[in-house]
Amino acid sequence: MQAFTGGYLGRILRVNLTTRQTSVEELKDKEVELLLGGRGIAARMYYDEISADTKAFDEGNKLFFVTGPLTGVPLPSTTKFQLATKSPETGHYLCSNCGGVFGPRLKQCGLDALIIEGRAADWTYLTINEGEVEFRDASEMAGLSTDKAQAFLHDAIGDKNAGTMTIGPAAEKLVRLSYLGVDSRAFGRGGPGAVMGSKKLKGIAVSGTGEVPVADRARVDEIRKSALAELRTSRADHTRLGTMQYIKKLNDLGCMPTRNFQTSHFEDCGPVEAESMKANYYVRNYACYRCPVACGKMCEVKEGPHAGAHARTEFETVGLFGPCCGVSDFAAIIAANQLADEIGVDTISVGNAVSLTMELFERGLITTEDTDGIEANFGSGEALIEIIRLVGERRGIGDLLAEGFAEVARRKPEWSWYIMHVKGLPFAAYDPRGFYGNALTKGTSSRGACHNVGGWSIRAELLSGDYDRFALTGKGPLIMSIQDNRAYVDSLGLCTVVRGSMAFSASPAGDTMEAVTGYAFTPKLLDIGERIYNLERMILNREGIVRADDMLPERIFKEAIPSGPCKGRTLTREQYDIMLDEYYQARGWDSDGVVTSETKERLGLTGELIQTGGEEQ
Ligand code: SF4
Repeated sequence: MQAFTGGYLGRILRVNLTTRQTSVEELKDKEVELLLGGRGIAARMYYDEISADTKAFDEGNKLFFVTGPLTGVPLPSTTKFQLATKSPETGHYLCSNCGGVFGPRLKQCGLDALIIEGRAADWTYLTINEGEVEFRDASEMAGLSTDKAQAFLHDAIGDKNAGTMTIGPAAEKLVRLSYLGVDSRAFGRGGPGAVMGSKKLKGIAVSGTGEVPVADRARVDEIRKSALAELRTSRADHTRLGTMQYIKKLNDLGCMPTRNFQTSHFEDCGPVEAESMKANYYVRNYACYRCPVACGKMCEVKEGPHAGAHARTEFETVGLFGPCCGVSDFAAIIAANQLADEIGVDTISVGNAVSLTMELFERGLITTEDTDGIEANFGSGEALIEIIRLVGERRGIGDLLAEGFAEVARRKPEWSWYIMHVKGLPFAAYDPRGFYGNALTKGTSSRGACHNVGGWSIRAELLSGDYDRFALTGKGPLIMSIQDNRAYVDSLGLCTVVRGSMAFSASPAGDTMEAVTGYAFTPKLLDIGERIYNLERMILNREGIVRADDMLPERIFKEAIPSGPCKGRTLTREQYDIMLDEYYQARGWDSDGVVTSETKERLGLTGELIQTGGEEQ
């Protein structure tokens, strides 16, 4: 690569499972200048190679794994890489961001990106050793949990520090909620594990020992020292309590989905809050590659029926398994979390599947005949665990839930009021009736009802004091700014939790990018984020997504919150339309949510950059 003296290797590895052939392609300077890496380049690859008609389990679907310029460089938390594929859960574009060591090891192999295409004839795993690919028989790995499959791959490649990606038994059964395990993290949402399953690919191990080049090593060392010092104070709560610190805050503000979004305040929240976790279940911290924050909290049940169960509890999992299922038994939540991890299903999606089942059961819309004998009442930790098992094994109602909410809503329109999703992706653990920007987050996220890609507005709307959380105006530009900020951060290869320590904000500053790449990226970063978000919307428009698809479930628009701090609150369709119009206007999209030709022109999303792109609608 000409323009960059560090951060990139300039090489993309393409692996075809059908032909068992591999090739190495060049990462082009022009694309990097405009789209940075990670999420931006992955979107571009998807735009070029995955048509609107391609189905998630078609042989023509592909998995694009792309690192960023910071992935693997000697700075804090340079752990992240990005995935794009057609989602089995939503049927549309899926982008996903993940930590672990896989991304850094790929870079240490001399590779910026990995493309998996085709379908193996028999179950296969791949090893990539210093860039050399081997296709190996995975028949011995059949049915292995994600962690056992990981251990198998470490032995197979002969490197305990190798990066691994694995799928669990749920993905082998094409459960559309299946995550793709990456070391001890995961590409969680949208069912990417099931795409791997459809390709008969059980796992990938990558081992590399090269160094990722940086343009100015001395300056990078200075930036590292200053970032480490800043993180010790700015992220002390993450180090102590992890993301679970937000459970109490969100519940106290009346924004915590409770009993499948029937209300937004859980009256028995104490046992599932972070301080209780720390006092009764906490064992140790867990950190991704080069991360001083170590926000992962490994917990273990010490006594009782779930003794020995262990899992790394996070905000979203606890929010969905706890309040959203009415469960306050934290030991059962840990056991359910462990089970979901082992079989390999996304805890947000399966948590929603369980809470939906519980509401249907309590309303008499399903019976124990559907649940394989389980008394699926809210508050039952046992029911939580057993319904997750039903989904993983595709038994009873679990077989329908394993198809994902889009398909459940299609087959059971009479349940639509209770199915909490946007574009087929189940809700993250926030009730948008409690802070209205979150409605735009869920409605306009590039992958469905997601709290990260869609814009995590909790700090701005609920914690900073800078915004009225129930205001209708101002939320469009706010959510757009958070989305664009996240889009470029997801393209760097850096964890979003530490981004402030290197001045990667909505007004990017500092010289980290210049020190790493030798290129003046910093003033361009927010524009790059906007370009990426618009490229993703162009993909969605091409796949038929317009304004009607940005709507929230009727329950949010029509049912007032009956209890707690937000009692009486709703968000009407008319109010949401006001915010959506403002958002589209800020974005430069037309009133139907389609990216206009003027916006494409302004952002350089025409001509050379996307000339090989497919037919647009
Ligand atoms: S802050 Fe948490 S998610 Fe981010 S890199 Fe560190 S351990 Fe991983």
